[in-house]
Amino acid sequence: MTGLKCRLCGKLYGKDEALNFCTDDFGPLEVAYDYDAVARVFSRQTVAARPRTMWRYRELLPVDGEPTVGVHVGCTPLIRADRLAKALGVAELYLKNDAVNHPSLSFKDRVVAVALSKAVEMGFQTVGCASTGNLAGSVAANAAAAGLDAYVLIPEGLEQGKVLGATIYGAKVVAVRGNYDHVNRLCSQIAFRYGWGFVNVNLRPFYAEGSKSMGYEIAEDLGWRAPDHVVAPMAGGSLIGKLHKAFHELDRLGMLEAPVRTRMFGAQAAGCNPISNTVKTGARKVKPVRDPDTIAKSLAIGDPADGWFASQLIQETGGWSEDVSDDAIIDGMRLLAETEGIWAETAGGVTLAVAKKLIEEGRIDRDGSTVLCITGNGLKTQEALLERIPQPVVIKPSLEEFEALVEQGDEVFDHARLATA
Ligand SMILES: *Cc1c(COP(=O)(O)O)cnc(C)c1O
Ligand SMILES: [Zn+2]
Repeated sequence: MTGLKCRLCGKLYGKDEALNFCTDDFGPLEVAYDYDAVARVFSRQTVAARPRTMWRYRELLPVDGEPTVGVHVGCTPLIRADRLAKALGVAELYLKNDAVNHPSLSFKDRVVAVALSKAVEMGFQTVGCASTGNLAGSVAANAAAAGLDAYVLIPEGLEQGKVLGATIYGAKVVAVRGNYDHVNRLCSQIAFRYGWGFVNVNLRPFYAEGSKSMGYEIAEDLGWRAPDHVVAPMAGGSLIGKLHKAFHELDRLGMLEAPVRTRMFGAQAAGCNPISNTVKTGARKVKPVRDPDTIAKSLAIGDPADGWFASQLIQETGGWSEDVSDDAIIDGMRLLAETEGIWAETAGGVTLAVAKKLIEEGRIDRDGSTVLCITGNGLKTQEALLERIPQPVVIKPSLEEFEALVEQGDEVFDHARLATA
């Protein structure tokens, strides 16, 4: 890492600045690297010799010394999903399963590991975040393990699993009466007022780089190849861009078998689709969604910080973006669970339902390789399913009752759902 660089005007900043925007034009800052220097010390062999965590790619992440926070994060399974591929009618399908990321069961542990390792390097004792749910849990868990004080701000009305999954770690959790955009604005004020390290505010350039590790791992597990298509869920629009950046960095370092020609596809919920709407209408800027309304609360960012860059990237790579209804999200969650045995949160349902739509529309071609990014765990969004999937059929502890049940046929299990729906 050589420093921070403005994405609009290219102005350079130091590498230990707690700043997320250019002081000249308010452009977002991004970490810059000396790739020739990286190439001299980093190769496939370096990676292979290291433990299976995201830190096997540490030369491409913005920490100077050894990471101190989230040292076990990453290297989640990349699963060849043949049963799901058959259901969707594609030849070669993979799931990158960050629903089982350590320690807080979402891809956010990647971004938090980098941001908090950097926060420790920079001497912050108090950290925080503005969260739609998963970031709250990840900051709380990783800060606890690192002995840092954490303030976590969330919109009021999040799922219990997300709220408990932050408070259990002893973080100071504040629910704000408003939506995520209100929370985010407040956090900008707090971070600068108190001089704390907010991972997705003043530490955002470092935070965002953590998402690249997901891309490195995908390419490594595909035998050092970038896939033909990637479908990624979008909230602030950061992850999708970093996946693409990761493939191109490996290419630039000569670590891939073939040049990158990955087309990037973005997934959103119909109830909060500012980025997908920009792509589909060809608009010249992102029109914020004022009142997000979807069960995919983790993706409910009405005014996405990286929305414009994401929409441009999607178009430049020849990809596309779609958004899906809450019912389609539930169907996506069930299809993933029933075909591959993976219980993802609502965002996973968004990714799957969007992938299905894109395949049916012919946007994703059926012969290429496709990776779906599963970014969070179903245990944390149980409310979304409660009224919508079958309840258990209740019987007495008697073999006759069980036999009678089996004789009624499989539909009886579906009726259990209809009775409560
Ligand atoms: C935060 C989050 C995302 C997307 O993150 P961005 O980088 O903000 O687009 C996707 N899935 C889940 C489950 C998340 O929590
Ligand atoms: Zn600038």
